[in-house]
Order: sequence, then C-alpha cells, then structure tokens
Amino acid sequence: MRALVIGAGIAGPVTAMALQKAGLDVTVLEAHARTADDAGAFLTLAPNGLHALEVLDIDHHDLGGFDTTALQMRNARGRALTRLPMDAPGGGLHSQTVRRADLYTALRDEAGRRGIAVEHGRRLADVTPGRTGGVVATFEDGTRETGDMLVGADGIGSRTRQVLDPACPAPRYTGLLNTGGYATGVAVDAEPGVFTMVFGRRAFFAYLCRGPGEVWWFANIPRTAAATADELAAWTPATWRAELERLFADDRSPALELLAGTPRLLGPWNTRDLPKVPVWHRGPVGLVGDAAHAISPTSGQGASLAVEDGVLLARWVRDLGDPAAAFAAFEAQRRRRVERLVAQAKRTSNLKIPNPLSRAVRDRVVLPAVGRVATRTSRDWVTDFRVTWEERSAPAR
Ligand SMILES: Cc1cc2nc3c(=O)[nH]c(=O)nc-3n(C[C@H](O)[C@H](O)[C@H](O)COP(=O)(O)OP(=O)(O)OC[C@H]3O[C@@H](n4cnc5c(N)ncnc54)[C@H](O)[C@@H]3O)c2cc1C
Repeated sequence: MRALVIGAGIAGPVTAMALQKAGLDVTVLEAHARTADDAGAFLTLAPNGLHALEVLDIDHHDLGGFDTTALQMRNARGRALTRLPMDAPGGGLHSQTVRRADLYTALRDEAGRRGIAVEHGRRLADVTPGRTGGVVATFEDGTRETGDMLVGADGIGSRTRQVLDPACPAPRYTGLLNTGGYATGVAVDAEPGVFTMVFGRRAFFAYLCRGPGEVWWFANIPRTAAATADELAAWTPATWRAELERLFADDRSPALELLAGTPRLLGPWNTRDLPKVPVWHRGPVGLVGDAAHAISPTSGQGASLAVEDGVLLARWVRDLGDPAAAFAAFEAQRRRRVERLVAQAKRTSNLKIPNPLSRAVRDRVVLPAVGRVATRTSRDWVTDFRVTWEERSAPAR
C-alpha cells in the first residue's frame, strides 16, 4: 500500500515513519524548499510526545533540545505564584525544549535515513479520487502523485482540510501576539532548564536558561484583534523592541536585560488555534496534527499531539488494513482528547489577557490551585498519556 503524506513539519515525518513501520511504502511531499525551515521559534516536547517518539526508536537526545524540568510562575512584582513539574511522574523523561527548525530537521533526516522519500517544493493543490480507488494528489506545479491513502499533515493552514471540507471554520485568533528571541551574555537568577513565567502588568514574559549566559525567551502580548499582515509588517525591529521595552518597563523580571542581550527579535505573529474541525477524513484521505486540531502554543502540547497522532493512525492502518476504516477509528479515538486539550489551552491562554479583577483572582486563587493539583502523585491525563505499538487496536464502535 502506498501512502502520500502532505507536509514535512512534525506530524508528517512522524506519520511517515510510523506508516513505514506498519508496512507501507510512504512518500512525504512538502511545500517549502529545504532551506525554508523556520529558524526562529522554539517549542517544548512533553513526556507524552517523547514516549510516542520512542515507539519509533527515536531518542530525544538526537533532537537537539535540552532538559526542561519545571516551570515556575511569578506575578509582576516578582512574587512566586506556583511551580509545576515538566517531567514524567516518578522520574523518567524530562520535557525537551528545542528549536522548531532543529526538530523538523532531525525528524526529516531520520525519515530519510529510513529510506522514506521527502520531496520539497511540492505544494498540494487538490485531491481527487483515483480511477481504480485510492487518491490522486495534484500539486501547484501541475505534477501529480497517486496513492492508496493521503494524510494531510500540512499544519494549521491545511490545504487538505479545505479539500475535505471547503466550509471548515478558519483558525481562531486567541487574543495574543507572540514574540521571542535568544539572549546571550545575560546572567539571570534562574536554574537551568526551569522556565520562569511572569504574568506582567501589560504582557506575559517567559524565559529559560539553556546554559551559562544563554537564555531563550518568549512573550505574549494581549491584543483585541489579530494584527493584519500590513500591521505586522509595519513593526520594524527598532519599533517592536521599543514597544516591548514599554510593555515590560514596570515588571519585576529580567525582560529588559534579556531584550538588550537579544540581537534579533522573532516576530511578532498572531497565535491561533482550531477548536473544532468538523471533518477529519473522507474515504482514504484524512488529517493529523495541527491540520486537525491546532492548539494554542500556551499548552506546550501541539508538537506532542502531532507525534501521538502519527503513531496512533499508523497503528489503526496496521490493524484494520483499510485506510478509510483506519481514519474513522483514529478520529473516534482522538477527537475527545484533542478537543478537550484545545479548550483547556484556550482557558490557560486567557489567563494571559488580564484585567485588574481577573488578575487578582488568577494570582491568588487559580494559579496556586493549579500548583497544588499538579503534584507528583496525581496522574496527569495530558503528559501521562502513553502510545504503545504492540497493543492491537480494537475496531472502533
Ligand atoms: C511560536 C510557537 C511556539 C510553539 N510552542 C510549542 C510548544 O512549546 N510545544 C508544542 O508542543 N507545540 C508548540 N507549538 C506548536 C507546534 O509547533 C505545532 O503544533 C506543531 O508544529 C504541529 O506540527 P504539524 O506537523 O501538524 O504542523 P507544522 O509543523 O505546521 O507542519 C506543517 C508542514 O506542512 C507544510 N505544508 C503546508 N501546506 C502545504 C501544502 N499545501 N502542501 C505541502 N506541504 C504543506 C508546511 O510547510 C509545514 O512544513 C508552537 C507553535 C508556535 C508557532
């Protein structure tokens, strides 16, 4: 059976490797040229995502990231609000913080080493049924590929999703702009590998020490309406830097020093999610990763969910044989978990958009309560989720 996987971000190469493990012949087709990887932002892979990668014999040490063990939250005056573990309960894997570009590259290279073709410069335009079953994918350059199944791993702006359901709701703006950078030569008072998150007076600031003098940071700026492309383009590096300095001027955090130690600012860009994608699949065509359930970056779960998806879909294909049945079973298994998480992430993201009243409730009640609940003894339905390969998938009801 031949599978076409559209997109070589995170879900794409992982799904391809998992389908290969299930016995399929797989080709990955990516819109961008190889050199167009986003060299900017970073993300955190949680234990649930790392365990799913282990199913494919991918060791997190090969991903280019570093251990991230906890996160601590502070208010604008520097008062500690709560501290949450970021590792698996009872020890085990630590979350990994990694540049997106490094993660993409590691996964694509690994897929290539396993003999999976990853073709760049192939932007999907349309998908139609094949004459004798299967699918025909047409690309913007007029080329075509045929396969027995097609997996849309083409991200939040998925073309596959539009083909499956032209009426699908557009991604939702979450009310925050995102920005960030890599500071060097700045000494901050923080344990390496522990995120410090500061709910500032005007905006949210988070930083993480990678090693001596090397600090990775991001900031979320509340903004009622999404910035238009023209508005985003109007920020020059100098005006954006001045704006961030203004926003963080009155907070007790190292934001200003870190800004000064950052040669190049990343962003700003709008953060978006997809609370509900009504159609995940039709026949032998279906979605995985952000294409099906983009989640606010606040969750730290988008990449991990994409990895879980790839392995679980492949398991259904292995066990049911028929792609259409596999996509249906996969949706029945996944939809509840991912939509619950997207909704939870949006609520957490809203805590970053404060008014004075909600700020007091958040700092005195909500965040300390979150910290109390997140103890090592309690099972966490998000990060303790385990994908296995040996388990046989029962047919979906
Ligand atoms: C700033 C930021 C911070 C984040 N932080 C975290 C975090 O801490 N933890 C976490 O888990 N997640 C985080 N995320 C989310 C995470 O990056 C995504 O959830 C994850 O990348 C989803 O993987 P994906 O493969 O589904 O989509 P993507 O990574 O977006 O990959 C989609 C791929 O499809 C390609 N493509 C698109 N259209 C086409 C087409 N028509 N034809 C062919 N190819 C196409 C794209 O070029 C891309 O390579 C963050 C996201 C952002 C933006």
